[in-house]
Amino acid sequence: MSSAERVLEEEETLVVEMEVEHRRQFGSVQIGSVLFTDRRAVFSYQSNGAWTQFGEADLSAEPFAQYVDGELHAVFIPATDSDAVLQLQSDYIEEVESVTGLSSAMSVLGEASRDPPVDPAECTCDRMSSNKVLVENENMELGEDFDEEEFRFVSCEDCFRIYGRYRHGKKASLNKLFSADWLFGGDLSYESIVDFDNEDAYAIHHTPSGPVRVQDALLVLSHIGSRSGEVVSTYKHDYQHALCYVLDDTVVGYLTWEPHERGPILSQLYIREEYRGQGLAANLVSGWYENVCDSEHYFADEPTSGGKAVLSSIGHLDRASGPAREVHNLTPLAFG
Ligand SMILES: [Zn+2]
Repeated sequence: MSSAERVLEEEETLVVEMEVEHRRQFGSVQIGSVLFTDRRAVFSYQSNGAWTQFGEADLSAEPFAQYVDGELHAVFIPATDSDAVLQLQSDYIEEVESVTGLSSAMSVLGEASRDPPVDPAECTCDRMSSNKVLVENENMELGEDFDEEEFRFVSCEDCFRIYGRYRHGKKASLNKLFSADWLFGGDLSYESIVDFDNEDAYAIHHTPSGPVRVQDALLVLSHIGSRSGEVVSTYKHDYQHALCYVLDDTVVGYLTWEPHERGPILSQLYIREEYRGQGLAANLVSGWYENVCDSEHYFADEPTSGGKAVLSSIGHLDRASGPAREVHNLTPLAFG
């Protein structure tokens, strides 16, 4: 009997099963399952050949799955249900760890501190390194997705502050990376330009296979944001679209989204510190929604309090008439 057959109630539809894996040196085995139906999330695990249904949480709207290259990447649930589901998930992880003696990849990541050894505000930044870029994979694990020769940050070894990037051995400072002149000196085509109402401002629509200079500017901006704790996730250049916001010939911020048949999923929104307080984030989201977003509705994936304030200020989060719905993503669990 499949997991779904054991769990599904009458008139209930399975949306997606997220397998819970035990990753071993040579291949993985399934040790549990999170079933998402049109109305519930149900957590089960397997031990000594028997399945235990650990717990379930009701969902206020139907969840939906996102696949990247044919693999389940995340399941999105309404943000209103996220507290209950995350609590259940955390209790579930604890139980699976105690029953199987394994540890969750998530707990291991939580323990590994990403805080710099020196507070950036107090650092004199005289120890530069060209450390390898760390990019989150679909399981929120940090990994070196780039070949060492290909892409690295130029950053301070002590406080992790980013000063530029290397690609193919060539260094570009932040000033260069964020200048429109340099971006257009690459293979950028003018077809990707999105005009905004303000004549000094426009945006570059970057697709996953787009020009590498724009990609690098976005990667650097995204990691500056994540190192300062201002964005929750980092830009995934291999499948996310981005809108790179240019004001007076300088990149001032960006947003990213993932296309989905249910509506695009807005992932990150970031304005550089020195350009805040001018309503640029609101302009960027409005410009994206009016000119690029190909759907009446879209999803906002775990917006920060700042992000929510921006979306609210332009009426996007209004339950009755706003186009945005707040969602929370759950990624596959693994134990090792
Ligand atoms: Zn430093």
